[in-house]
Amino acid sequence: MRVYLDNAATTPIDEDVLNVMTETMREFYGNPSSTHLMGRKSKSLIERSRKSVAKHLNCLPSEIIFTSGGTEADNMAINCSVKHLGVTHIITSEIEHHAVGHTAQHVADGKQVKLSYVKLDDKGHVDLAHLEELLSTVKEKTLVSLMYANNEIGNLLPAKEVSILCRKHNAYFHSDTVQSMAHYAYDMKTFDVDFLTCAAHKFHGPKGSGFLYVKNTIKLTPMIFGGAQERNLRGGTENLHGIIGLAKAMDVAYDDLEGHKTHIEGIKAYMIKELKANINDVRFNGDSDNLERSLYTVLNVCLPESKNSSMLLFHLDILGICCSGGSACSSGANKGSHVLAGIGSDPKRPAVRFSFSKYTTKEEIDYAVKHLADLYK
Ligand code: PLP
Repeated sequence: MRVYLDNAATTPIDEDVLNVMTETMREFYGNPSSTHLMGRKSKSLIERSRKSVAKHLNCLPSEIIFTSGGTEADNMAINCSVKHLGVTHIITSEIEHHAVGHTAQHVADGKQVKLSYVKLDDKGHVDLAHLEELLSTVKEKTLVSLMYANNEIGNLLPAKEVSILCRKHNAYFHSDTVQSMAHYAYDMKTFDVDFLTCAAHKFHGPKGSGFLYVKNTIKLTPMIFGGAQERNLRGGTENLHGIIGLAKAMDVAYDDLEGHKTHIEGIKAYMIKELKANINDVRFNGDSDNLERSLYTVLNVCLPESKNSSMLLFHLDILGICCSGGSACSSGANKGSHVLAGIGSDPKRPAVRFSFSKYTTKEEIDYAVKHLADLYK
């Protein structure tokens, strides 16, 4: 049996998405920059996709810049803020994805900006009082970069409160929404944020396709030099089938956002209950088991120490259970998780991240829990 519980790393592609993508590759091969019929058709498909994405976010199509995924979009948000908006101070947290953390560190190492880290509480939530204190004491032009949903522990940011604080103190706000885009509804007319990021493969779309949302009041200059694609901001022939796949994946997700959420939340609650019933002293990292304050697709389990601890993922893998020991980007590497370290999780207790999708079944959870519990007998 194969049980796929690593949907925060990536999701299987939706059949309808695959179909529109293969049709696009077969039929619409014109370069969107070509002025002939085939080029114009490709160009119009991109603009149709942009409109469709913008409609889901209730924003302007011109606020969407297609990218190669979440990492590029996060890099762009931070680099653009420093290069084009005059930001000289970044406030972030110790538990951001490396696409944010390493980019912020890189600009700080280059002495372009000062970096501040907001305090986290014992569950790993941002300390809003400390954020306000940081914002009110700095004089520099500031970017706050805090993720909407943590990819390892699932903690949700009180993003509206953060955006209000940013506006009050005249700071730009970037939120990494790679794990939450197309899992929650965003209304950009009421959610006041300057940059959001997206990767299609986190919601049954293709890998290597994403976007950066940039508020229309922000004027940027080119980030990738070359052709005039993406309003001159990002040169390079567009990933047409990737963009169309992203837009289709968003349509499919938004078609039944509540239905998918209810199903996945039920799966998560069931797994919490079964783990508690079958494994002594099982705990959860961050606020992962709090259904109100964590991403419904992610459950980070903090297991008791055992002789199997170091080989846990290996044993689960042999049994056909795909899950992760931390962020997918570092799974397989022998490095500890900076997120678990950042929230002070006990390093002696193994952590396993299970993450779910609309395709996950209770039978898969039963299989995973049974085998995990067996390893503790
Ligand atoms: N940000 C978060 C929160 C993520 O979980 C990921 C991927 O795991 C990324 C950014 C990077 O996205 P991508 O791998 O599509 O570049």
